Amino acid sequence: MSEQTPDHGEAHGGGLGGRLNWLRAAVLGANDGVVSTAGLVVGVAGATGSPTTLLTAGLAGLLAGSMSMAAGEYVSVSTQRDAEKAALVQERRELATEPKAELIELTGLLKAKGLSTKLAREVAVQLTAHDALRAHAEVELGIDPDELTNPWHAAGASFLAFTVGALLPLLAIVLPPDGLRLPITVVSVLAALALCGWTSARLGSAPALPAILRNTGGGALAMIVTYVAGSALGASGV
Ligand SMILES: [Zn+2]
Repeated sequence: MSEQTPDHGEAHGGGLGGRLNWLRAAVLGANDGVVSTAGLVVGVAGATGSPTTLLTAGLAGLLAGSMSMAAGEYVSVSTQRDAEKAALVQERRELATEPKAELIELTGLLKAKGLSTKLAREVAVQLTAHDALRAHAEVELGIDPDELTNPWHAAGASFLAFTVGALLPLLAIVLPPDGLRLPITVVSVLAALALCGWTSARLGSAPALPAILRNTGGGALAMIVTYVAGSALGASGV
């Protein structure tokens, strides 16, 4: 990320914008891992103080959550990739069968971007001579034919991000001695959520404080609700 242009990251084309999107997704994934695992272990801690039970619940939550995130990401990116591939196939066919219409179409798209008719025509002719499919993919479809997102990479990244986030509440509830489990978990979870909120606000050039308050507020609510539910179940002796 360039320090000189914090507000224009997305304007510099696929490279930096793509990296920012990945970073944003990673922060969101980690945030999910923190909140859902914190809610889970705090809820179980409301019912029982058994370290084995807490570890089992936390670990099951970590694995279930990270695999569900990975599977969801795999499906969604695969679908998008299939759609982009199909669009490229159709574009290639149109270029082969109706090159004249495609040249007129590209000229029109370039004119719509602000070029004069003469210049748009000239640019369209040169782009078509150089790499017609790439020109149509970028100008018309808005995709880089060489950089279609890999669904396995997306799934792996989601899995990793969620796991990193989930490890924090899991370790915080399992490692400390009995009386300190809950306070340490709550404090470290709120601190991590504040950091996630601050980071996503910075990445999106949004004000930091509202993002921090929303994020810690959501996490606090999740822990309160599950703790109350867990305590009620624990006290009822079911
Ligand atoms: Zn086209």
